[in-house]
Amino acid sequence: MALIVHKYGGTSMGSTERIRSVAKRVAKWARAGHQMIVVPSAMSGETNRLLALAKDVSPAQQTAAMLRELDMIACTGEQVSVGLLSLALQAEGMQAVSYTGWQVPVRTDSAYTKARIQSIDDARVRADLAAGRVVVITGFQGVDEDNNVTTLGRGGSDTSAVAVAAALKADECLIYTDVDGVYTTDPRIVPEAKRLHSISFEEMLEMASLGSKVLQIRSVEFAGKYRVPLRVLSSFTPWDIDITEEAASGTLITFEEDEKMEQAVVSGIAFNRDEAKVTVLGVPDKPGIAYSILGQVAEANIDVDVIIQNVSHDGKTDFSFTVHRNDYQRTLDLLKTKVLPATGAAEVLGDAKICKVSIVGIGMRSHAGVASTMFRALSEEGINIQMITTSEIKTSVVIDEKYMELAVRALHKAFDLDASIEPTAESAD
Ligand code: ADP
Ligand code: ASP
Ligand code: MG
Repeated sequence: MALIVHKYGGTSMGSTERIRSVAKRVAKWARAGHQMIVVPSAMSGETNRLLALAKDVSPAQQTAAMLRELDMIACTGEQVSVGLLSLALQAEGMQAVSYTGWQVPVRTDSAYTKARIQSIDDARVRADLAAGRVVVITGFQGVDEDNNVTTLGRGGSDTSAVAVAAALKADECLIYTDVDGVYTTDPRIVPEAKRLHSISFEEMLEMASLGSKVLQIRSVEFAGKYRVPLRVLSSFTPWDIDITEEAASGTLITFEEDEKMEQAVVSGIAFNRDEAKVTVLGVPDKPGIAYSILGQVAEANIDVDVIIQNVSHDGKTDFSFTVHRNDYQRTLDLLKTKVLPATGAAEVLGDAKICKVSIVGIGMRSHAGVASTMFRALSEEGINIQMITTSEIKTSVVIDEKYMELAVRALHKAFDLDASIEPTAESAD
């Protein structure tokens, strides 16, 4: 007997019919002798609908007080889901009980709309499991120390599931979604993308942080920190497929670099349309200049991603960086009103129509020439690179947003990801 956590995303919970199918699948696992915890998301489209209602009532720029209410609204989608799933499980003859985040409780900090889980009380859940119940816990929600409801950021149910699995020391956390695993890139953009049988934790962390929304980054961080065995698989297979076959399907996130992974040079391609670029032109090039620009930005709680400072001419330089698109206007305003007068820079420019495309692979550590293959592939498509950033296992470029799909396809081909399920070292050199 094992303790298993299943997570079902919005599409998997998208209709009462699908919820019944989820219940049948969970019941199959329970009848096979496993203790089961299920963490569902809101039904597809529901969180967007709720947040649109909020925007309708209050279109103004978000204040801290508003963020609290947004969480109060957004978390309700998951509450409906757990109730429906628990009912569907009971209809399957299971004993099932549903809990919201504050009933467990799942304790978080008070950062509304992007709260972080701090602890999970396992007592109530353990008692239910011991009594033979299937426990259904809301994804996405938590409660802070003053009992305010919080949410974990978009896609946060992944994190709820992995955190619950970590807290309960589950044997495995299975993330059921609308694709049958982690692909070399988003299969909606590149139909030739191939499913990976396994992906290393480090690569998955990079893929998630660089924009692959198949797992929320914090869920991968949790899995790494607590060594939660994690698998991404399809909720669209027939619910009654053989359980052993199902348990081995999808993509396993691995913590040991096996031989196959050492061979892979580039395992996947990620992209992100959520950033915007700002440039401060004609900044006097002297010590402390980066701090005088980015210090102000950090003080305003704006996260900076890619940074480039040009070679100076006549004692002046240009300084560019990217921020989340939600922070774009605020950053421009800040640069114009505070940084320009303080630094004596000439001008501030902005471009929100950019995207970041990244190649990720553990094999990049030990292979030269990977970045140049990337740059060649982009140049052959006539795509201009605006910024470049690298780390040990990834290279990212910032390009014009309108070339994003072209770039992803070109890179997918250049690294031979179209051709084989597990990329090999030879394929990318
Ligand atoms: P859920 O509602 O189940 O949480 P999400 O929409 O959050 O599902 O995540 C699944 C989606 O992630 C897929 O439908 C796919 O379009 C997208 N995706 C992005 N990158 C990848 C990738 N590398 N592999 C698989 N899916 C990906
Ligand atoms: N329902 C939330 C969202 O749409 C959380 C999740 O689906 O993971 O972002
Ligand atoms: Mg998701």
